[in-house]
Amino acid sequence: MSFQDLNLNTPLYNALDDLGFTTPTPIQEKAFNVVASGKDVVGIAQTGTGKTFAYMLPILKNLKFSQQENPRVLVLVPTRELVVQVVEEIEKLSKYINTRVLGVYGGTNINTQKQAIAEGLDILVATPGRLYDLALSRVLQLKSIQKLVIDEVDVMLDLGFRHQLINIFDILPERRQNIMFSATMTQDVDELITDFFRSPERISIAVSGTPLENISQQRYIVPNFYTKINLLVDLLQDDSKFHRVLIFVAYKRMADRLFEQLDTFFKEELCVIHSNKTQNYRLRSIEQFKEGVNRILVATDVMARGLDIDNVSHVINFDTPEYPENYMHRIGRTGRAERQGEALVFSTEKEADAIAAIEGLMQMEIPVLALPDAVEVSTELIPEERPQIKERNNPTKRRDEDAPGPAFHEKSAKNSKENLGGSYQYKIAAKYKKPKTRGDKNYNKRNKRK
Ligand code: AMP
Repeated sequence: MSFQDLNLNTPLYNALDDLGFTTPTPIQEKAFNVVASGKDVVGIAQTGTGKTFAYMLPILKNLKFSQQENPRVLVLVPTRELVVQVVEEIEKLSKYINTRVLGVYGGTNINTQKQAIAEGLDILVATPGRLYDLALSRVLQLKSIQKLVIDEVDVMLDLGFRHQLINIFDILPERRQNIMFSATMTQDVDELITDFFRSPERISIAVSGTPLENISQQRYIVPNFYTKINLLVDLLQDDSKFHRVLIFVAYKRMADRLFEQLDTFFKEELCVIHSNKTQNYRLRSIEQFKEGVNRILVATDVMARGLDIDNVSHVINFDTPEYPENYMHRIGRTGRAERQGEALVFSTEKEADAIAAIEGLMQMEIPVLALPDAVEVSTELIPEERPQIKERNNPTKRRDEDAPGPAFHEKSAKNSKENLGGSYQYKIAAKYKKPKTRGDKNYNKRNKRK
């Protein structure tokens, strides 16, 4: 396929020519018609796959010239670096189109940004917090937004932006196209899609289910968290074999919990990265792991993405990824550059379905190893493992504070008045303390005369 097949227009072709791009990347090819159709879209694609153009090409092709001041396209991204990068990409692509693009992010002077907005724009690229502040200040009008793009949703949710996103959804026009891109599929992302998207079309570049030949895979069947810890501690004792170990967990609370447990045994050799840690802390952890100062790195899927670390001897899946693609990404961190790599996965009975999905994708079974004799089987359970007592039909219990329901949107002032039976007597009563009769029109006159 070439860009000619996408039926773009001359200004876009000229811009692509200037960039020297001739063929669309797979995600661009897949996304074009879906995004152009106006439907809600969820795209799974990593940075470097050309995802920015995947949504910008169809958007720019269909964006009519307009002199109106309010933006019509809003792109939300998690970091200021990404704002800058996305703005640059859009500017390259719209070189021959009269499109006004602006990037805004927190930590800088808001007044300069307000002035820039007041001059009018078509496409706004923003981080969620700053966008909300600008919208509240009323300088920024969002009523003309037709397309909302959320890029790197997984990172955004991992950084704790869910609330801000929901607040923003609330002030955007209801009739709009939602387009979202994420590198990893996580439970948070899945929930957001279910709650706020209208039967979105999903696109992804198929993750190869064929693992590298030089990665050996093995599985341990382990009953619970504490037994997993015992097993891990037992394995990690062998530091000549397990000399550079990347341990994956699904979410940051688990990363902290695991770190805490391992800290007792491997204090000097251990580091952790997830989104609650500062950027500096994360960079230092990665550096130390790369240099071999620390032998063990605990990471979440979202944070490990894009890590460029070679020579990992073992990838340990402390939990079994629910999305098989994540498993492929995880184990791909070892066995690089022709080296032999080992991948281990710990799975409980609850995780059996996830294992089946992974094995289905790879079309192979992961050999199971017996627990070493030295590993003590624990019966202690963490809160998530304890049986949940489900109350049925409890009207006061909500699964999640953020869960949207019928009363999720604030009522407008007009509708929030209480209906007291349609009589104005109540108002009058409140004002005059005692009921004023309607029948006696001369009541006041008479009283005045007295
Ligand atoms: P992204 O995944 O959007 O961060 O893009 C990664 C890089 O690929 C960017 O520098 C783009 O300019 C570049 N790129 C995007 N589309 C193409 C294409 N069709 N051919 C070659 N490079 C591309």
